[in-house]
Amino acid sequence: ISTMANSKFEYVRTFETEDYLLPNCWIVVRIDGKSFHKFSKKHNFDKPNDLNALKLMNKAASTVMEEYKDILLAYGQSDEFSFVLRKDSTLYNRRRSKICTYINSLFSSSYVYFWKDHFQDTKLKYPPSFDSRIVLYPTDKNLRDYFSWRQADCHINNLYNTTFWALVLKGGLSNSEAEQRLCGTLSSDKHEILFSEFSTNYNNEPVIFKKGTILLRKKFKYKNSNKIVVIPLHEDLIQDDFWVRHNEILEI
Ligand code: ATP
Ligand code: ATP
Ligand code: MG
Ligand code: MG
Ligand code: MG
Ligand code: MG
Repeated sequence: ISTMANSKFEYVRTFETEDYLLPNCWIVVRIDGKSFHKFSKKHNFDKPNDLNALKLMNKAASTVMEEYKDILLAYGQSDEFSFVLRKDSTLYNRRRSKICTYINSLFSSSYVYFWKDHFQDTKLKYPPSFDSRIVLYPTDKNLRDYFSWRQADCHINNLYNTTFWALVLKGGLSNSEAEQRLCGTLSSDKHEILFSEFSTNYNNEPVIFKKGTILLRKKFKYKNSNKIVVIPLHEDLIQDDFWVRHNEILEI
């Protein structure tokens, strides 16, 4: 072993560069499914929202949170999940590639591992993959704005997709006709189309579709001892209210 370590080949290791993340910043890891437009078609996801697919994403993310206790909070919608690590985390000495790749690969393998629990009648047709990136946020405001950005994205896409699929599945329009119909419409126009043409009040759509899923750690009393469990919430996190009710997140 020591002869290998001292081999004339070992100099190649010096080509590896350091990738320590800046101290004292929030670390956000976001993963996103590769070509899930196609993946969702191949696996017959319900349109616009397949509930089992969302639950599988949440299960994979919970598995990641059970393994990495430095993750305070995660937020998921569609084929993406964001994880935030404590500012003072020393996980893998804050090495970017370690954190990014371990979280991504545990998420990806969990997605496959738990597939059969969520899709009893649909076989996994090929191995899915996810990209991942790390972004550092120096201030609490930046971090809140990050999550607001993702949740606003969820809302905008969901309102569009809900209206689009109502026009196609219930209104008999072709995909391109529905696209044309929605071109240039405002949010209020989409609400109106849903309400007047499909008797659908968008506000009554399931909250998991409208808001995505927040995973948080909460302490519970269990037989005289405290247990910490990961719980899913489907709440608005753009307003102050969320951060006041769960004030432990930003106090850390
Ligand atoms: P890329 O590789 O660039 O991310 P993509 O096809 O994955 O391409 P996204 O912008 O990530 O594009 O969008 C994900 C797509 O996956 C959605 O537009 C939707 O078609 C599909 N999708 C993801 N989750 C669900 C779900 N729960 N139910 C139905 N469709 C879903
Ligand atoms: P780390 O997380 O730091 O990589 P590790 O336990 O994976 O820790 P490595 O230096 O990567 O440590 O070594 C991988 C170890 O896995 C080997 O030392 C060996 O014990 C085991 N291993 C890997 N592949 C095989 C295999 N094909 N047969 C038997 N043992 C294996
Ligand atoms: Mg993308
Ligand atoms: Mg994607
Ligand atoms: Mg996506
Ligand atoms: Mg190893």
